[in-house]
Amino acid sequence: MKAAQIRQQFLDFFESKKHTIVPSAPMVVKDDPTLMFTNAGMNQFKDIFLDLAPIKHTRVADSQKCLRVSGKHNDLEEVGVDTYHHTMFEMLGNWSFGDYFKKEAIAWAWELLVDVYGLPEERLYATIFEGNQEVPRDTEAFDFWKQYLPEDRIINGNAKDNFWEMGETGPCGPCSEIHIDLRDDDEREKVNGRDLVNQDHPLVIEIWNLVFIQFNRKSGGVLEKLPKTHVDTGMGFERLCMALQGKKSNYDTDVFQPIIQRIAQLSNKEYGKDEQTDIAIRVVADHIRTVAFSIAEGQLPSNNKAGYVIRRILRRAIRYAYTFLGMKEPFIYELVSVLDETLGGHFEEIGKQKTLIEQVVKEEENAFLRTLSNGLKLMDDVIQKAKNKDSKIIEGDVAFKLYDTYGFPLDLIDLIAREQGFTVDNEGFNVALEKQRAGSRTAISETDEWTFVRENQAQEFIGYDYSESKIELVKYRTVTDKKKKLYHLVFNHTPFYGESGGQIGDTGIIEDVFGNEYHVINTIKEHNEIIHVLPKLPEHLDATFSAKIALERRNNIKKNHSATHLLHYALRKVLGDHVQQKGSLVADTHLSFDFSHFQKMTENEIAEVEGIVNKLIQQNTILQEERALPIDEAKKRGAMALFGEKYGDVVRMIQFGDSVELCGGTHVSSTGEIGLLKITSESSIASGIRRIEAVTGNGALKYFNEHLTIVKELEQTFKVPTQKVLSSIHHLQEENKKLQLKIKEYQKQALTSLKKELKGDVTEKDGISWLIKKLEVESADQIRDLAYQLKGEINNLIFIAGANIKGKANLTIMFSQNLVEKHGLHAGNLVREVAKEIQGGGGGQPFFASAGGRNPEGIENAFAKAKEMIKAKL
Ligand code: ATP
Ligand code: MG
Repeated sequence: MKAAQIRQQFLDFFESKKHTIVPSAPMVVKDDPTLMFTNAGMNQFKDIFLDLAPIKHTRVADSQKCLRVSGKHNDLEEVGVDTYHHTMFEMLGNWSFGDYFKKEAIAWAWELLVDVYGLPEERLYATIFEGNQEVPRDTEAFDFWKQYLPEDRIINGNAKDNFWEMGETGPCGPCSEIHIDLRDDDEREKVNGRDLVNQDHPLVIEIWNLVFIQFNRKSGGVLEKLPKTHVDTGMGFERLCMALQGKKSNYDTDVFQPIIQRIAQLSNKEYGKDEQTDIAIRVVADHIRTVAFSIAEGQLPSNNKAGYVIRRILRRAIRYAYTFLGMKEPFIYELVSVLDETLGGHFEEIGKQKTLIEQVVKEEENAFLRTLSNGLKLMDDVIQKAKNKDSKIIEGDVAFKLYDTYGFPLDLIDLIAREQGFTVDNEGFNVALEKQRAGSRTAISETDEWTFVRENQAQEFIGYDYSESKIELVKYRTVTDKKKKLYHLVFNHTPFYGESGGQIGDTGIIEDVFGNEYHVINTIKEHNEIIHVLPKLPEHLDATFSAKIALERRNNIKKNHSATHLLHYALRKVLGDHVQQKGSLVADTHLSFDFSHFQKMTENEIAEVEGIVNKLIQQNTILQEERALPIDEAKKRGAMALFGEKYGDVVRMIQFGDSVELCGGTHVSSTGEIGLLKITSESSIASGIRRIEAVTGNGALKYFNEHLTIVKELEQTFKVPTQKVLSSIHHLQEENKKLQLKIKEYQKQALTSLKKELKGDVTEKDGISWLIKKLEVESADQIRDLAYQLKGEINNLIFIAGANIKGKANLTIMFSQNLVEKHGLHAGNLVREVAKEIQGGGGGQPFFASAGGRNPEGIENAFAKAKEMIKAKL
């Protein structure tokens, strides 16, 4: 069975059990400070488990893109080395939100695996939680399993394997895993599969985990019972394919084989011949998936946070290919189209953004390959030196240099070191890293636990309709950083918009019934919760507050937000459909909009885009807003959904005429309110990504006024009307050019007459012409010209000139060539010696040299000394 069918059958099966099929949430997590990447199917439903979001469907199933390369779940080191862990993988899942529980979850898992997929039941094992001080043994699960499996194939497991937790905090509970034994029959006869479950055997592996969510782990470690129980299951899609396609490695399935074959072809290697080569091929095949999906979601490789993780993964692939496949030129980008062929049927984001992904990957490959060989050389040196010293350790600061200067990820350094039997001094590395960071750090902040003022309150944003409201505090916490203490407040409902979707947070005030006013300096959003940031904690926490947002500021933000939609629309019209939003900032002062496009926009294109937007503004199109539209309906109406954004099954749709977008931001009620849009800049921010900055409404007015003030000042300066300012400036420039030429001419003449004068000052003695003199000149160049001319016109010349040029001393010495030869004179040596008198230094050739110094007063002394030294040689 093909992978695509396997996935579809999973979804169909659960649909038949009354589950709603939902799309995968983005892999790169946007608004959760505790999680960088989705690491399990349940992440997107966390708020439901915690009772923070309403349950829309009680049964849901999907295939979720997961990435396990950081935090609690990190499989990176295994990837490529083994055959069943990936960085990015698909997790097939079914959920019950307060609906069915252990019985149905187990029954359906069994039905699907055995009856539908036809997996041999004698190869299956189940594990259950054995219990500990916190939570008792899961006898319930055990009893349900007994209906399908003999008892000796139901295995007790410890908390590490059978108590599932997403992270340090969050929803959790006992789980029951299904393992499969894929070994050949003779192997199975030799060793009982039961003894290999959870023993890291590559062919006795976990395929499905059924988690029974019953608790919430609070920070500090306390387990709290949840009001409702839920089911959360996750099955590794690639592992399931391996089992169903009768393979012994995930990489042998049709999910990976096309990519692997392409790598083999491009590198001229054969897969399956040599273990080290195979590992490298698997690493590349795995990592391109992670990198491609991340870029498709808008997370490009970069130097911090999620972007750096992605860059590190790509570099790991490049390094493996470089060392073990001999790939010294970019080639990984060429795998993107194969990836699209294998997964494009289900995930359309790769195909839609293929060119961008290819371009970004290729550029990254080029950049890293340039430093890779230097870094590897350095690494070799370091290892050689360490060997000579009989050491097996790579010093921390050396590792840091590789990291900092050559962009080697630490895990890469570690890997190369291990290949040579070395270890890296991680502690030393961290010390060096800290030292560097200490300088650039902004401030570490410390966040306290929430204190609840009112329990069990859901929060509602009412800011689409109201700018003021009576509100009540639900909870608060203190956030401390180096400089100051801030307070985070969550209210039952609020007109304040929390920063999200590129739109900045509202500011404003809250006032209690006693007339005390408190400033809200920012509003942010975490896990869908709107958090008000205050520098001062209100005195009466249980009072009712009147909340008022800073209305004018919000109105400016609205104009900019609606304008970004019009801009997006106009850009696609003018440049084409490859234009995709890649990020935006909607502030009160201006907007910036990032989008995929491959070359600089021309002046004409910019003008055209600006023209379309302003026409739409003048048409004063009315906002059509749908607060809760089914997503399919929204798409049908032409809404542009962004990959990498998380959408529920109902969405908010914002429409101005033909511009239709899914958006949670605040908008003007008709485009005329925007007033005007002016594009202020167009630039590149990354390979294939451009940024437009623009102003609207009052911001545009301010922009024009500032520019007009300058024009006015120019008018006054030149005393001409506006239309003539430019020609006045051109005229001035011309004039200036002519004057410069004239000055040069005069300088030449002055030099000629100076030369004449100097010739009169020459004194002859014993056939040698001496000329020692302080000159009044503008530049050292002039003296040099003079010296060369005099040398050409006077025989047996000794010329020493001094000058005070803008407060600095200058000495120049010129000898006729024959004197140099006859008397062994050396202008360079001489000037170096006598320059001491002018507190400076210099040098030059035997016949010509010059020096500069701080002390023009010393020129006479320098002359005297030079004269003496020359005389001594004659
Ligand atoms: P393992 O012990 O094999 O690492 P796990 O206990 O980390 O698995 P879960 O967190 O329970 O796995 O995830 C649910 C399912 O997702 C697993 O049963 C497995 O099939 C799959 N899975 C987990 N990690 C990976 C990975 N890195 N690559 C591919 N599939 C994975
Ligand atoms: Mg694991």
